[in-house]
Amino acid sequence: MYDVTYLRPTNLKDAVQLYRATPGCRPLAGGTDLMVMLHARTLRPAPRAVLDVWSLLELKGVRRSQGMLEIGAAESYTGIIRSRDAQEHVPALVAAARTIGAAQIQNRGTLGGNLANASPAGDTLPVLLAYDAVVVTDRRSIPIDQFFTGYRKTALQPDELIVAVRMPLGRRVVFRKVGTRAAQAISKVVTAVSRSPARVALGAVAEVPLRARRAEAALERGDVEGAIAAVADDIRPIDRRTVAQNVLRSLLDDLART
Ligand SMILES: Cc1cc2nc3c(=O)[nH]c(=O)nc-3n(C[C@H](O)[C@H](O)[C@H](O)COP(=O)(O)OP(=O)(O)OC[C@H]3O[C@@H](n4cnc5c(N)ncnc54)[C@H](O)[C@@H]3O)c2cc1C
Repeated sequence: MYDVTYLRPTNLKDAVQLYRATPGCRPLAGGTDLMVMLHARTLRPAPRAVLDVWSLLELKGVRRSQGMLEIGAAESYTGIIRSRDAQEHVPALVAAARTIGAAQIQNRGTLGGNLANASPAGDTLPVLLAYDAVVVTDRRSIPIDQFFTGYRKTALQPDELIVAVRMPLGRRVVFRKVGTRAAQAISKVVTAVSRSPARVALGAVAEVPLRARRAEAALERGDVEGAIAAVADDIRPIDRRTVAQNVLRSLLDDLART
């Protein structure tokens, strides 16, 4: 475990100020990803502080706002699953949330954490792509298709907090996760699809969650078989060379420290 200072602001304004004023600080929401990394000491650079955003009311809740459905970044999967508004307007996200981990993980894991962690296998991420979600931060709105910039990299600035995620009402999206087990498993292929507008979004097939643009173009023309053929060209299986480089870098860092 790293030796970190624990910061617990009580409102969003204080959280934003503290985050900006504390170099080497990491937000802590449910901790289901971050605590693992803190214990394993796999974060580079090593964090000096954590900013607990779990209890911030401004980051909680599921509500309708400006013709969109808005979900707070620190809302848990259980909160999303139980929300009537989420069930009605974003059932594919509810379906994805139900497949995440087991009850303990659903009680603590959050949408903001899944986004910021930016795993290519993050289960909600293709769903958010298919809904054309907008990531709302403390300073701007980022369209989801501009959010993932590389392997576990995002468009977030080092001191930028995710506050909420917005999705349009009335879009029909379906979700499927094909893995070794429905829960407690790193997903193998995650797919979310909308017919109108045509969206085909995939996870665990490349270094980032991605939209299959050729498949979408075929679907836009109503060419279902063309879309199915095109999706194979759209995906880039996760590059093992990059994985090997990342693992080697991490192991060499460990060796250098001991
Ligand atoms: C046993 C187990 C099973 C799991 N199963 C699945 C699964 O099936 N599918 C899946 O997708 N994931 C799974 N996960 C991963 C994890 O639960 C999810 O990624 C979860 O959504 C992370 O949310 P969190 O609130 O716990 O994030 P945290 O661990 O608190 O944070 C994760 C990252 O996001 C950053 N962060 C958090 N909140 C914010 C914010 N508001 N603004 C900016 N940055 C922020 C943190 O600094 C950190 O880098 C599993 C994890 C475990 C331990």
